[in-house]
Amino acid sequence: MADRVLLRGGYVLSMDPSVGDLPSGDVLIEDGRIAAVAPSIEVDGGDVEIIDATGRIVLPGFVDTHRHTWQAPWRNIASDWSLFHYLWGMHTGLSKYYRPEDTYNGNLLGTAEALDSGITTLLDWSHNLKTPDHTDGAIAGLRDSGARTVFAHGGGAPQWANVPGNAVPHPVDDARRVRAQYFNSDDGLMTMALAIRGPQFTTEAVAAADFALAAELDVDVTVHVGDGELGKTRPIEWLKDNDLLSDRTTYVHCCTLGDDELKLIADSGGKASVAADVELQMGHGWPATGRLLKVGVRPSLSIDVCTSTGGNMFGLMRTALGTQRGLDNAHLEATGGTLANGEPIPLTARDMLEFATIEGARACGLDHKVGSLTPGKDADVILVKTDVLEMSPLNNPLGALVYNAHPGLVDTILVAGRVVKRDGRLTQLDTDKIRAGAQQTRDHVLEQAHDDDLIGDITLGGTWTPVNPATAHAHGHSHA
Ligand SMILES: [Zn+2]
Repeated sequence: MADRVLLRGGYVLSMDPSVGDLPSGDVLIEDGRIAAVAPSIEVDGGDVEIIDATGRIVLPGFVDTHRHTWQAPWRNIASDWSLFHYLWGMHTGLSKYYRPEDTYNGNLLGTAEALDSGITTLLDWSHNLKTPDHTDGAIAGLRDSGARTVFAHGGGAPQWANVPGNAVPHPVDDARRVRAQYFNSDDGLMTMALAIRGPQFTTEAVAAADFALAAELDVDVTVHVGDGELGKTRPIEWLKDNDLLSDRTTYVHCCTLGDDELKLIADSGGKASVAADVELQMGHGWPATGRLLKVGVRPSLSIDVCTSTGGNMFGLMRTALGTQRGLDNAHLEATGGTLANGEPIPLTARDMLEFATIEGARACGLDHKVGSLTPGKDADVILVKTDVLEMSPLNNPLGALVYNAHPGLVDTILVAGRVVKRDGRLTQLDTDKIRAGAQQTRDHVLEQAHDDDLIGDITLGGTWTPVNPATAHAHGHSHA
């Protein structure tokens, strides 16, 4: 007999136009897959677990298409830092004191936190892989979370120091080992991608070799482009000239790419990831949502780093929508236009929910499996409470999810049909243990980094601002 779960009587947002929205609907799950979505489903026999979804919105789990998950223990330490502070203090600073167990602790905290907030699929843009043991730690952290994950192998601090123009090759042997050891099938709950630096951070020879490695391993690529001044070096044009644009690549940020470069991405079938919170906070440029849409690319969304901003999709959707509406309104004002004739506004809450679900699945190469409540797909489903003050009365579930909801309302979560959160509590994870592990990592790294003059006097409480290692000694900075 099939293993069956019935989600009964929720407000179903399937995010699949052929299934539609059901103000009161049932979702039947059999053997981990969605078997049916309908206003009412009768099940015979007693072997079905029925989950009451009344007072809940039922929708596909969110997909975060780019997160440097190892940094989770440094939550909010960079909330008042610039991009440069982050590069000096975190990216090539604290990163060097990570042991393999710290990579594990960071990845487990970051992925568990994401899962708890309704992100059922997370792409770990893993770029602190100093040794194969660190890589193993990263993968184990993702695995132990119980979420669906894409491990994007991204090298370590040696590959990321002194950008642009870093000529240190990607750790090719480790990437090959991981593909063979962990990902000899592309059907598991975890899959593999290659997180590479791309032409704006490295040399032309290394960029070409990295894309060749992705082709050899037969994995998707995720690459940062168009962040701040670096992004103005025409990386997409270079990829075009070298015949390296592909529908298997996700371009992260895209803020400062030219419109013609965005068009090249569209023409090649490439995908995009907008990390609106971090782009605004670190100065990458305006989130490219509207410009991407203009050339026909429907973006996905990503958290990027939890060192400054929050790790959940609700805050990110709100920022991305608010920013683009602000840009659209500013454009109207500057050009003397109005919407006085009743024209619809260009970007909607439904768009944001599609970016956070089905477009995210596309960017991860997983849209055949997840991203919508479509019969036949894996059952990655979340239930969001609406029987609370801030969601009542429920007049527009799409608007309520984008503008009112928060992680505390994510009541029940299934990943591939397995219940991982019920009645507001994670059922498969020891959250106290995860928090303790992350705290041990933070304390260990702080202790080790205490005498590191190259990153400045490290303090907590919002009082630490990292220094430029190139000039740290010139300023006579030292510890007693
Ligand atoms: Zn990033």
